[in-house]
Order: sequence, then structure tokens, then C-alpha cells
Amino acid sequence: MKLDNLFRDKTVFSFEIFPPKPTSPLSSVESAIESLSALSPDFISVTYGAGGSKNGGATTKIAADLKKKYNVESVVHLTCLYHTKEEVRQLLEIYRENGIDNILALRGDRIPDAEPCGEFSHASELVEFIKANGDFHVVAACYPEVHNESSDSVADMKNLKYKVDCGADHLVSQLFLDNEYFYSFREKALIAGIDVPIEAGIMPVTNKKQIERMVSMCGIHLPKKFARVLDRFGDDPEAMRDAGIAYAVDQIVDLVSQGVDGIHLYTMNNPYVAEKIHSAVSSLFKR
Ligand code: FAD
Repeated sequence: MKLDNLFRDKTVFSFEIFPPKPTSPLSSVESAIESLSALSPDFISVTYGAGGSKNGGATTKIAADLKKKYNVESVVHLTCLYHTKEEVRQLLEIYRENGIDNILALRGDRIPDAEPCGEFSHASELVEFIKANGDFHVVAACYPEVHNESSDSVADMKNLKYKVDCGADHLVSQLFLDNEYFYSFREKALIAGIDVPIEAGIMPVTNKKQIERMVSMCGIHLPKKFARVLDRFGDDPEAMRDAGIAYAVDQIVDLVSQGVDGIHLYTMNNPYVAEKIHSAVSSLFKR
């Protein structure tokens, strides 16, 4: 089912998962997928080639299983820098054959020493291509703290507006730890004329290394409140996990209270953390 009408009646609560490494069997994520599906999120998105490898088979198989075996709507992520148009056309056909109706269209990160195919340079081109070659609901990424390659927030917002004009039906944000960035971004997006639903990406930070990597990779701002959590609990895995869950719950309560269109939870394939968060906030998503 295309997600077109999903945001009409309720605040959306969705999850993101990733396929196993190419060296591990798909069965290694089976039990995580089963537990996460049991929480009945509005949809689960499945990442693609994170880190650059082309893993279309695993992403597609998991997305198809989510629908057929677990009765949960799915979204496949698709990156384009290292694909030709013909390859994307073939992937769209495979999605159709597998009953997949929703695609998160991304440029993808650059792989050091690898030459892009040169047929797609920006996600907007992929959005346009998908819309011209099929009947899919197209999601795109957005960055409340500005994309890390963009020094200019105005140019970044103009590029986002163009991506929406190319056909993106809804947006999912990069993670952030300070909701004020999201509110300010949402207001600027409205002023820029972006009128599609924007889901807030929330990542429960349950270990110190994970967030240090995100801060250096994506330029995420570490608020004082969260820095104090890291200082106090960063070296105690159990306490850090609990504090990370509580922090994410606090962010979600505030976002839903302020009328966010949806929350996209980066589950990191961790059903324990997702279950704790889900049980704390699920009643907020009834309408
Ligand atoms: P774009 O929208 O193309 O933007 C990238 C940069 O180019 C921005 O700085 C933008 O301002 C600029 N730009 C855009 N259009 C133009 C233009 N016409 N002219 C000049 N500049 C322009 N990566 C993966 O590999 N696999 C995944 O599964 C994956 N899932 C993700 C899910 C979410 C929700 C998010 C937020 C990110 C995800 N990523 C994933 C990471 C993503 O691929 C990177 O952030 C990548 O660097 C940018 O992708 P994009 O689609 O946002 O690119």
C-alpha cells in the first residue's frame, strides 16, 4: 500500500532497520524483525548499501517479507550515486514484482576511491526518475542541522524545496538531539513552501562510541544536557542504555506535543530499546 494517506488522520510512528552485513545470512536479523514488527509501527524502512555496498537483494527481501510475513508496510531505501538509470529501472521492476510501493530516494554517501556512475548527482534526480517510471510513494531525506556537505543553510533549503517539487511525497529527517533545531527547520521549510509531511528522525543513543561517530560524521550538535548524560553514564553500558532510552522518550513526547507529523525511530535493529520506547509513548500516536 502506498503511504500517501498515512499522515491524514494520525501522528505516524515508523521504524528503520538495516540488513545484515553481506557476510552474514538474512536469518541473523530475523528475530529482530519479528519483534519489531510485533510492535505494529505504521511502516518499517530498510536501509540500502549503508557504507556504500550494493545490497539490493537483502533490502528488497526484507521489505517484501515485512509485508508478506509480518503484515507491516515497508519502505525500501535506494541510493543513486553509484547506479545507472538502467540499473534503477531494473530495481523498480523488482520492487513492483515484490509488491513494494514505497521508496526512500537518496543520493547516498560518497565512497572513497570509487567513481560515481555519473547518471545521478542528487537525490532530486532519483525522485524525478522514480516518479516518471512507476507508481511509487517517494520519501526523501532532510537535515534539521543542514547537510554536512552544505555550508549554506539557505542553499540546502532551496535544494530540499526542489527535491520536493520533483515529487517527494514526504520527508524523514536526520537524527538530532536538540528539538529546537527541528522546530526551527520546520518553520523555515514552511516559509520555503514545503508542504509535505516531515517525520522527525530519533535515534536512541545507547552507547558513547555510537554518538561520537555520528557527531563527527554528520555534524550533529551535542546539547549540554546530553553531554552531561554522556559524562555521567557513558562508561556504564546499562545506565547509558537506560539514559539513552529516557532521553529519546523525552524528545518524542515534546515533538508529538508540538504537532510533529511523525516520528521515525532509528531502531539500530535493537528490539529491546524499541520495545521500551514504544511502551512509553505508544498511546501518544492514537490520533
Ligand atoms: P541530496 O538531497 O542529493 O543532498 C546532498 C547534498 O547535495 C546536500 O548538501 C544538498 O544541499 C546538495 N544538493 C542537492 N541538490 C543539489 C543541487 N541541485 N545542486 C547543488 N547541490 C545540491 N545512506 C545510505 O547509503 N543508505 C541508506 O539507506 C541511507 N538512509 C538514510 C535515511 C535517512 C532518513 C537519512 C537522513 C539519510 C540516509 N542516508 C543513507 C544517508 C544519505 O545518503 C546521505 O546523507 C547523503 O550524503 C545525502 O543524501 P540525500 O539523499 O539527502 O542527498
